[in-house]
Formats: sequence, structure tokens, C-alpha cells
Amino acid sequence: MQFKEVLGNGELKSRLINMVDSGRTGHSLMFVEKDGYGALPLAMALIQYMMCRNRKAGEDSCGICPSCRRISEMMHPDLHFAFPVNSASKSGSGKPLSGAFMQDWRELYKTDPYFTEPDLYERIGIADKVGVISVAEAKEILDSLSLKSYEGYSKFMLVWLPERMNAEAANRLLKIVEEPSPDTYFIFVTHAPERIISTIRSRSQMIRLYPVSQGELAPFLSVRTGVPADEAVLYARTSGGSPGLALNMIQGSSASEAYLPLLTSMLESVVGKDLPALLEGNDAVLALGRERQKDFCLYSEAFLRKAMMHRRGLGSIADVLPSEKDAVMRFSSALPDSFYEKAFAAFEGARTAVESNVNAKMVFCNLVNVLFALYNFRV
Ligand SMILES: [Zn+2]
Repeated sequence: MQFKEVLGNGELKSRLINMVDSGRTGHSLMFVEKDGYGALPLAMALIQYMMCRNRKAGEDSCGICPSCRRISEMMHPDLHFAFPVNSASKSGSGKPLSGAFMQDWRELYKTDPYFTEPDLYERIGIADKVGVISVAEAKEILDSLSLKSYEGYSKFMLVWLPERMNAEAANRLLKIVEEPSPDTYFIFVTHAPERIISTIRSRSQMIRLYPVSQGELAPFLSVRTGVPADEAVLYARTSGGSPGLALNMIQGSSASEAYLPLLTSMLESVVGKDLPALLEGNDAVLALGRERQKDFCLYSEAFLRKAMMHRRGLGSIADVLPSEKDAVMRFSSALPDSFYEKAFAAFEGARTAVESNVNAKMVFCNLVNVLFALYNFRV
């Protein structure tokens, strides 16, 4: 990956290039982003730039030398990765380590460098769980960094989502992050820096990504997926400038295509006063697994916001996707004004509860009961 291939964050790229050229690169860098912004490809471009033997200073890596080629294939012997996995993973029993999923990791990156956290979990077969970076993984990290660099230059450890490390694992890494050998670089990519122990955070140079502008994201989406230009603008906006989320919406692996049918059947049962169907419909939501249940709640809040705006005659600014149009029209007339605010709160509450590991069955049973009462008893 070269800098020029990474979407958005132009100013940040220049700063990173400048940082390397002037020899001010810290030994622990922490890329902070929202899911799907592209911190991984950006970090890969930085590593490639640092390792390229033929780089154009002030511009980019060459992209064709053996080092560049091996880094872009994620096959460089001095570039190591660690990311969250879980015991339900398809590797079978025993303590799972990222190493067992390196092939999946590479392939996922190759097909879509902007992949999201749920995308990884789906890929490695743990969609119903949250991944962790375990103490055993921390030990692996230390072991691989204890080796001499293969090519005699620098070695890199890229830890994707260090917030998934438990305290014990993080403490294991602390010493080496505090006192790295001169040729070792830690590259962290995080979606939640506040959940990383402060001792690691404070030793790291923070690099914050911004959302990708609509002007850059929409044409990329159009070229990449073939959606018409005007639709691409909608996806760019609805995704909040996250290429990863926008691609998922378009490809239907999350958001509208995956969640819309679940939500419409839920709302239909509410409007049809059919409580048994409502409770039964929850099975499909439970089958999503935790990460996607949170996405489903977020999607539902966004959808209801669009319906509310449509109801209030502000439909043209509500970013309604073509696939949602019929449903937005139908429910905006069926659901009364009094429904929306409390329904937002109910979905938000469900999302927080799922995040804090409350039993999902209880959470969604409670949610549909609240929605049912909101509509039928106008509580
Ligand atoms: Zn090169």
C-alpha cells in the first residue's frame, strides 16, 4: 500500500511522511479512528515508506522494490501482526492466537483494506463473539520481537484493536513499549483509545484519522462497486465518512440490506399488534451476535430518524437510501409522533446493554415490549 492509494486524510499523510523524513518517528504509534476509516491501510503505507529502500523522500514508497512488495502482501518477515480472536474460532479448541488466522487476515485485507471489526469476526468464524488479545498472544508478541530483524533494518509489530487486550496482556507488553529496542516499532490501530491502559497510551504518539470527505469517498465507492454517482453520495454521507462502513452498506453485509428486513418485520409486528410474532422475530436478531446486534440498534435508530424527518416533511434531507424508501414512507405514516423519541432511547438503551454484556435475549425481549407498548398504549 502506498500513501497515494489510501483514501482521505491528505494532511495527515504529509505529516507522517515528514515525520519519517526528519527522523522523528516514535517507537510506539497509535492510530485512532472510527471503524472503517482506513487506519490499517494508512499504517501499512507508513511502514512501507519506512522500509522502502528506494523511497522518494517527501512523496511515497516506490511500490515495486522487494520490501514494498512483501509489505503490501503482508508477507514481510520483519512485519508482525496481532489482532483479536476467540476460542470459538474455526481453528478448533485450545488457546487461539492471531497466527492461526494469518491467511484470513491477509485475504481480508487484500479484498478490502477498509474492513471493519465485525468483518474480521465474520471472516474468522466468531461473528457471535467479541475477539480478545490474550496473555498467550502477548507472549507471542514478545517472542517474535525478541528475534533479530530478518533483514537487519527495523521490525514492526502492528496490533489491531489493542483495546481488546485484557489488563494482564497489556501489562505484559508494557515494558517493551516503554523501552523498545532501537529497531522495534509498535503500531497500534484503535477504535477506543480510552479503553487502553493509560501507561501504554501515554508512551504512544497519537495519530488521529478524520472521516474521509464526501468528495473523495463517493467517487471511490462508485468505481469500486458500480453504484450510480448520486447513490454513492448518499452512502458516503450515511456512513459518516467511513469507507469500510459505506462498502458494507453497499455490499449488504451490514446496515440496510442486512438489517432493514429485520427492522421492518419488527415494526410490522408492532403496528399489527402481534406480540407473539414480535418475540419470535427476535431470534433473527439474537443470531446476529453481539457486534452486529449493536450495529442493528444503530441502524434502527438511524432508520427511525429518517422516518421521523419524513413525517415532519423534511424527507429530502434525511439521506434515505433507495432500498429504504418504501419502508420509510410506510412507517413514517404508520408510527405516530409520540413514538420516535422514546423508540430512539429504547434502541440506544439496548445497544448500551449489549455493549456491557447483558444477556441479549433479555435485552431484545425488553426492547420489543417497549416498542409494542409505545405504539399500542401510547405510553
Ligand atoms: Zn520500495
